[in-house]
Parts: sequence; structure tokens; C-alpha cells
Amino acid sequence: MKRREFLQQQASFLLPLPFLSLRLNHLALNQGLVDYDTYAFTIGKFKCRVFKDSMFKYLGKDYFINAPQELITQELNRYHQQTDNIPSPFVALLIEDQTQKILIDTGIGLTRDPITFKGKSYHFQGRLLEILQQEGIRGEDITTLIITHFHPDHIGGVFSEAGKLNFPKATIKIHEAEWAYWHSAKSVNQPPLFHNFIEKNVTPLTKADLDLIKGDETELCSGIQAIHIPGHTPGQLALHIASQGEQFLYISDAFLHPLHMEHLDWQTNYDLDHAKAKASRVKLLDFAYGEQMLMQGFHFDFPGLGRVDKAGQNWKWVYTKK
Ligand SMILES: [Zn+2]
Repeated sequence: MKRREFLQQQASFLLPLPFLSLRLNHLALNQGLVDYDTYAFTIGKFKCRVFKDSMFKYLGKDYFINAPQELITQELNRYHQQTDNIPSPFVALLIEDQTQKILIDTGIGLTRDPITFKGKSYHFQGRLLEILQQEGIRGEDITTLIITHFHPDHIGGVFSEAGKLNFPKATIKIHEAEWAYWHSAKSVNQPPLFHNFIEKNVTPLTKADLDLIKGDETELCSGIQAIHIPGHTPGQLALHIASQGEQFLYISDAFLHPLHMEHLDWQTNYDLDHAKAKASRVKLLDFAYGEQMLMQGFHFDFPGLGRVDKAGQNWKWVYTKK
């Protein structure tokens, strides 16, 4: 049976269960767009794979809080999206060479009970572990786990539902500003859902598991550098990978949508500090453009790979595949 037919059959089984709407969105989106969960490419000596953990639907009013409504509609149209339906993947990236398997972010994880967010009920079924298994990778094979920031779609897969580390042999790298903010009174007004995910997936980590990153630019290993890009959250990280003359930039959530590159003044509800977010965006765009670097946007159309170009004074995103 072809995968698409299989998915259609699965979809019909799931229909009577309203709390599985997220899963249905995922399936429905697969019909017309991308029909796969893994995208592989290389950067020099590094073998890279982007995994599609799950799909989510965002709203224009949350993504672009200060932009004129008509312009949002018109611009989203260029990306074949509507203001009430901006489909977005949650992803994870695996980078490996002869000696190490480095996982960046962990998806949303699996939750047994539906979770309420912004008045809606969701049943999250992140597929990262299942996909890793299909790819022949066990949790204990991961040598390093880099968590770019503590939002649920990036940390949900750190621990299993039963409270066991999914990647028990990995050293976990996090920026110290991220740890400090979410474990201080400053984050008290953040959504309870975010705190629930952190209490389950980050707070139980011990000193033995953790390697806290300090400063603006840190070499994590030969060819992989963490760049501190505050704004979306206080300790968000981008990753710069360079090997054998090739370069790649994992921008995490510095940009939630290509339109945040093309309209640098458009702000999103999901950024904590708009001025810092903009400064981090400009820094990443200059860096990537100067080196003609391949980039990956976590929430961009899967697999989220592309490059930035300039159209007059403005930046332009071009989806590409390597
Ligand atoms: Zn995210």
C-alpha cells in the first residue's frame, strides 16, 4: 500500500475522536504537500537529517501582531497560506560524524492526556522517537543533545511519559540564560502549559546531564558553534555548522515564518523581547547572507531549508533543497 493511501485510511479511523484534530491536521497536510518525515543532506563531513515530529496550526494574529491585516493576508497568499491557518512543523535535527550523534531539539513529545492551550484541547503525538527507531537510531546512541530554548515544541521529547530520559547517554547543552530565566520569578507570567513542559522535561535534569553554555559564541566541538540569539527567549541558541567549505545555520525560532525575514519590523506574540529579537534576526541574516549559507527554519515548510537573498533594501527567503 502506498503511504498516502495508508494515511487516508488512518485518517478515516481517527475521525470520530475530536481530540485527535492535531493528528488529522498533520495527515491532511501530508496529502497535498510533503509526504515524508525525514530529509537527509550533508554539510562536509557531517551527515544531517531533519525529522518531522508533528504538525501544528498557527494564526496570523499571533504570528504578526503589529502588521496591517490586509498586508498579512496578501503576503501569506504568496506562501499559499491563510491568516487562520499557518501550518507549521515541529522538527528535530540530527548531525553526525564518525564519532558523535548530535540531536538538536526534541519535538513536542507524547502526552497521554489532552492538553489545553489558548482555550483549545490538543493531544500531542510527537513522532521523533518513532522516526529515530525507523532510522535505526536508539536513544542511547545520541551523544549530545542541544536544546535551543525551552518552549514545549523543542523540549517535549527530553523525558518519556514515564519520566525516563529518552537520550540517557547524551550530554545536554543549554544556554545558561535560558535555564536562569525559566527558573526565576521573571517567567512567572508565562503560560502554565510552558511551565508544565519545563517542570517535566528540563527541571529534573541534573548537573551530571548538563553542560550550560555561557557567552555569545561557543564552539561545542570541531565544526559546530552555538550562537546566543536572545529575543524569542532570553537564552535561545542558533547553531552554525561548518565543514569542508560548506556552512549551515540552524536558526531555531529566531524567525517563525519567512515573512519575519521579509518584514523585519513585524513582531510575533511568541517573542519575549521584540527589540532583542530584531537585533538577533539582523545578526543572523547578515551572517548567513555574507557566507551564502544554507539555513533551516524550525517552523518553516518542512524540511525548512533555504537561503536568504536581497530584494532591493529588503531580505527575501528562498526555499531550496540541498
Ligand atoms: Zn518553536
